Amino acid sequence: MGGGLDVARLRADFPVLQQPMNGKRLAFLDSAASSQKPQAVIDAERDCYERYYANIHRGVYQLSQQSTQAYEAVRGVVQRFLNAADEREVVFVRGATEAINLVAQSFVRPLLEPGDEILITGMEHHANIVPWQLVAEATGARLVVAPVLDDGQLDMAGLRERISARTRFISVVHVSNTLGTINPVDEVIAAARERDIPVLVDGAQSAPHMPVDVQALGADFYVFSAHKTYGPSGAGVLWGRLDRLEGMPPWQGGGDMIRTVTFEKTEYAEPPQRFEAGTPNIAGVIAMGAGLEYMLAVGREHILAHEQALLAYANERLAGIDGFRVIGTAPDKAGVISFVMADAHPHDIGTILDMEGVAVRAGHHCTQPLMQRFDVPATVRASFGLYNDTTDVDQLVDGLHRVKRFFA
Ligand code: PLP
Repeated sequence: MGGGLDVARLRADFPVLQQPMNGKRLAFLDSAASSQKPQAVIDAERDCYERYYANIHRGVYQLSQQSTQAYEAVRGVVQRFLNAADEREVVFVRGATEAINLVAQSFVRPLLEPGDEILITGMEHHANIVPWQLVAEATGARLVVAPVLDDGQLDMAGLRERISARTRFISVVHVSNTLGTINPVDEVIAAARERDIPVLVDGAQSAPHMPVDVQALGADFYVFSAHKTYGPSGAGVLWGRLDRLEGMPPWQGGGDMIRTVTFEKTEYAEPPQRFEAGTPNIAGVIAMGAGLEYMLAVGREHILAHEQALLAYANERLAGIDGFRVIGTAPDKAGVISFVMADAHPHDIGTILDMEGVAVRAGHHCTQPLMQRFDVPATVRASFGLYNDTTDVDQLVDGLHRVKRFFA
């Protein structure tokens, strides 16, 4: 099929996918929640612990220097991955959630006066809703929400209408984890620029699936999590334009983020260290680098083309199932299919599929307001990674026919 990826060869890189599940071939279709890990990532983490692990930055001995070097080298990998202008723009965090909280507390909160507005969209993950509610509550600012159209596209006219003289910040998801919609973030950023409003792009679902160029994008902040880019959990990236980061106060205080400390006054380190208080996830960041290198080697344009071809194949095959309804049919979509079926609850569908070796997500996908928008309590979500193929989709379709028989 299209896309040009040798999926059979890539699949072999992922040990987890080699095992049967409930006696069936494992069709892992939940990469939007978290991707599986290639051997290169597992090896990188183990190699760190087995050969050169020590705390970073402070040690004069060889092991510490080696682990510092390996950890710091990942900034260069992320710089390449995002085409960032400078590796000092790369802040290591625990994941997208922590990155958004950092920007909310350090950059946005000091800007806010009562009555000011933070603009998000109706398809945000809770990670891009709750941090803004927290700063709004603390400052008297207001959360404003741009609407979502019936097919799952962002209502751009509605978004533009909601940009006001009080809008201090816009935070928008690049790719919806529930609908798969690829948002026109360039248009959002252009609209924000007209009024000098800074923008954060939640890249949790774009970084794993498509080339990203933060300079071309023109946003102020871009965030993603390593566990969705074939790396480990507990690591991720806040990319921020250097002038923005330089103007921001620390969010958390502690070791490693200071220049000098006295009881009277502390001077902070420059970015990115200013935002990396305490001992970080050293081996996790190193393994995150291996995951990003893996994606770079496969080629993100190939990953995108492959997942798009798989999406088209899946849409065609799933359309034949009676009572099957997709939530989110925007023309520009990533490899995510959220659906409901007449007479079957999403959790029951997920459980029956599991018996067939098919791993999908059932629930609200941390987007409860979006569920309310589409008037469904939950959906089943099948989502693709670079290791998925048409056999996975066929297995899903066969499993759904079984669901139909079960509830007939
Ligand atoms: N934003 C989106 C669109 C997501 O899909 C997710 C995770 O599912 C997050 C943010 C939060 O990511 P994490 O839980 O890795 O911090």
